[in-house]
Amino acid sequence: MHIKTDDTVQVIAGNDRGKQGRVLSIDRPSGKLVVEGCNRVYKHVRRSQKNPQGGRLSKEMPLQISNVLLFCTQCAQGVRTGARIAEDGSKERFCRKCSTALGQIAPAKDKQAST
Ligand SMILES: [Zn+2]
Repeated sequence: MHIKTDDTVQVIAGNDRGKQGRVLSIDRPSGKLVVEGCNRVYKHVRRSQKNPQGGRLSKEMPLQISNVLLFCTQCAQGVRTGARIAEDGSKERFCRKCSTALGQIAPAKDKQAST
């Protein structure tokens, strides 16, 4: 999955299905990511020094990466992406639907020594 922090994604499963949001953080080892405004839960907190009022705290919980799709502004929906080599040699993501480039994944490599 080529999803990076700050990408806009669309949630395709669960209670927040259809919602879009910005990726706040990604945990690659567990394959989870936190999307702004999605999968919010109320965490009940006890009164403490940091939080003298106590009460409920709204918090986003991580989603499985497979439950989101990268959002394509051209298609106005979450889309499957592919990777391809751009003309300048860098690697980029693209929308499988409209083939719009969706940002770079890897910079252009220096021409490999062809001896
Ligand atoms: Zn598209």
